[in-house]
Amino acid sequence: MTKSPAIAVMGASGRMGQMLISQVSAHEGMTLTGAVERAGHDWIGQDVGVAMGGAALGVIVTDDAAAAIGTASAIIDFTAPAATLAFAAHAAKSGAVHVIGTTGMTAEDIAKLEPFAEKTVIIRAGNMSLGVNLLTLLTKKVAAALDADFDIEIIEAHHHHKVDAPSGTALMLGEAAAQGRGVALEDVSDRGRDGITGARKRGDIGFAAIRGGDIVGEHDVMFAAPGERIVLRHIASDRTVFARGALKAALWGQGREAGAYDMLDVLGLND
Ligand code: NAP
Repeated sequence: MTKSPAIAVMGASGRMGQMLISQVSAHEGMTLTGAVERAGHDWIGQDVGVAMGGAALGVIVTDDAAAAIGTASAIIDFTAPAATLAFAAHAAKSGAVHVIGTTGMTAEDIAKLEPFAEKTVIIRAGNMSLGVNLLTLLTKKVAAALDADFDIEIIEAHHHHKVDAPSGTALMLGEAAAQGRGVALEDVSDRGRDGITGARKRGDIGFAAIRGGDIVGEHDVMFAAPGERIVLRHIASDRTVFARGALKAALWGQGREAGAYDMLDVLGLND
């Protein structure tokens, strides 16, 4: 019997892509129907399971994103901003649910998704884990409870391959802290300190990024006041937490009204 819904994974050879292929193909409630890579990639034309060094999964890696998306009920996309925008146009056309884990998207990139979200369900989150989404809620609450005597600093650490900083998760947490304080993040964000920067400005939200080794993802939100500090911390030790969240989102989006959603919607945590 065919399982449903049909799922296509974008960027199949990537760190998250391979994790997603394994999880979707092992899931009892969904069927892997597509594995997409960029044109010229050496996996094109191979069975994706074999390309990953395992058993055949009966899905051939393709560079024809339109065709793979056209036959999918949902696509799961942890790739790069330009690729995600191109996939969004295809998903809007076919009506496939678009689960976006890609980070590093600019405000203009995100604005470009808006017309696509009128046509289909888009679920986008800089972090798909249950723990981090809970952490954003806690961050907002703590920021609302404390005044600007508490300096907010967000410190994140990731593996040495990561190309964007601060991480999408750090920005989500910064956004939550700013919302709690009732300010706009762009007005108070303090990024990339180096040299004689002057004293810290009261009310700023600071970001610091560490890159090294195989760190999967660590985030601290620090509220530091004279004499005391509170630190909220999340540590991801395994990428499966992101993949599990993405699969949950793909299922949650089925049959839902077109629109832009996030993981708090999927997890039922939005106020
Ligand atoms: P990665 O290993 O570099 O994987 C990205 C994959 O996307 C690569 O296979 C890449 O192919 C492919 N790709 C890029 N452009 C493409 C295109 N036009 N068509 C098809 N495939 C394309 O990176 P990763 O660690 O898996 O992370 C991917 C993204 O997910 C990053 O933005 C990362 O920050 C984000 N992420 C999000 C979460 C979350 O929970 N939201 C969690 C982890 C990671 P090439 O190698 O040929 O370029």
